[in-house]
Amino acid sequence: MPAITGDIYRRRLDSLQSEVWIDGDQMKGNISEHPAFRGVIKSQSELYDLQHSSGSHMTFTSEHTGSEIGTSFLIPTSKEDLRKRRKMIQQWAGHTGGLMGRSPDYMNTVLAAFAASTDILTGQPNCFPENLLKFYDFASENDLSFTHTFINPQTNRSKLAFLEEDVTNAKIVGRDEKGLIIKGAKLLATQGGITDEIIVFSAPGVQDNSCAYAFSIPSNTPGLKFICREAFSSSDSKFNSPLASRFEELDTIVIFDDVCVPWDRVFFHDNIRVANDFYIKGKFIPFTLHQIVSRQAVKTELVMGVAQMVVDTINISEYQHVQGKVTEIIKGLEMIKALLLSSEEQAVFDKAGVCIPKREPLYVAVNTFQEVYPRFIEIIQLLSASGIVTIPTEKDFQSPIGKDLVHYLQAFEVDGKERVKLFRLAWDLCLSSFGGRQTLYERFFFGDPIRLSQTIYQIYDKTDCLSLAENMLKS
Ligand SMILES: Cc1cc2nc3c(=O)[nH]c(=O)nc-3n(C[C@H](O)[C@H](O)[C@H](O)COP(=O)(O)OP(=O)(O)OC[C@H]3O[C@@H](n4cnc5c(N)ncnc54)[C@H](O)[C@@H]3O)c2cc1C
Repeated sequence: MPAITGDIYRRRLDSLQSEVWIDGDQMKGNISEHPAFRGVIKSQSELYDLQHSSGSHMTFTSEHTGSEIGTSFLIPTSKEDLRKRRKMIQQWAGHTGGLMGRSPDYMNTVLAAFAASTDILTGQPNCFPENLLKFYDFASENDLSFTHTFINPQTNRSKLAFLEEDVTNAKIVGRDEKGLIIKGAKLLATQGGITDEIIVFSAPGVQDNSCAYAFSIPSNTPGLKFICREAFSSSDSKFNSPLASRFEELDTIVIFDDVCVPWDRVFFHDNIRVANDFYIKGKFIPFTLHQIVSRQAVKTELVMGVAQMVVDTINISEYQHVQGKVTEIIKGLEMIKALLLSSEEQAVFDKAGVCIPKREPLYVAVNTFQEVYPRFIEIIQLLSASGIVTIPTEKDFQSPIGKDLVHYLQAFEVDGKERVKLFRLAWDLCLSSFGGRQTLYERFFFGDPIRLSQTIYQIYDKTDCLSLAENMLKS
């Protein structure tokens, strides 16, 4: 089956009946109709539909089967492929304003990166590169959707934590003729329970063999439980919650209760060295970062647009500090776009001909975004001031008091209802629980910003800079 439509995604999801818990209850019935999920599932369905209506960059032709496959599964072998991937990712991000960090292109990219890294598994103990390649073909041909989890529960983050008995982390507790048996928990999976599959792999720096694995299993595998946080999509009204009603991706704790992972779904197990190499030396980081930064560029455009709309609506553009604040967002946007293009321009090819975007500019972009995104959100708050709390609901405007609101809440050149509509967008981006979670997401989802900046320091090739400084001394 080639690139799917939204309808196929939704029907497949409803038929899974995965074990999803929300607010003390286990989900029953069609998940696509549940108030906490229907908005995001609809948006995700629209993304799948866009694969069929937005141009040739959305799919590529499979060499094996001739089917048209979603471009986010494409393993790039040229700079042109990289650009095609960016165009496709940004088309989807344009539909969501970049607010769905886990739109399907994120995990499709991860799987493509894994499939392009099988050289690390070949010939190593307990490694099955053939399983991974077969699964990549199956997933891309069926346009499977994925969530993933790899960080361990936040039980004890001390450097000496490995000396304590670990009673929470998901580990291999059995190996039999059917497969691996996994028991324990992982920190979280965004979109858990609303995807066909979950990819599970070791956290970076794994030190215990029984935690060194990578596999993928269907979301409805017996014993696999997704426990959702409280939903932030409090209203279906697009007027009241213009963003949360459409793009709220629930985060879920993941519990493995003696889950059996069939052997044909195991990519590797019980191999610490491979687990670490796969993460660090494989293509996971450059490919995934390229997807992330492509999305973040679009999200910054949205933030910039909202900031300017606020400025225009209350007519504050003449003030120097206002211009300066919007310029901060412009500088961030241009920097992110430049770093993205730089990573493509400096891409290198591996022995198999895979085109790998340069990781350093992407690392810099994502680490910088962890700092500037919260500042962008602060800027919108500073520009909006009380505007983001004087926001009556759609029902208020339909009530007998509505006429007063239309009049008294008017702004420069717009009536009260139009103004509130705009400020509700700004509120949902920077003040609602949805907006707050967006900021936390951009700060942490690709890792702790502190350790990420340390990684940049450690991997950055400083040779040329050092020799320039040394030459200066010599001359
Ligand atoms: C909204 C959201 C969605 C996410 N979605 C997913 C998902 O879908 N799948 C998934 O697998 N993960 C997901 N994550 C997890 C994400 O990868 C982690 O949050 C991130 O790696 C940081 O880990 P942590 O949350 O355990 O924080 P911790 O590592 O516990 O950090 C907490 C604090 O302690 C400090 N600290 C801890 N250890 C050290 C150290 N060694 N050196 C210096 N400082 C240290 C940190 O700087 C930080 O201030 C998501 C996170 C968020 C917030």
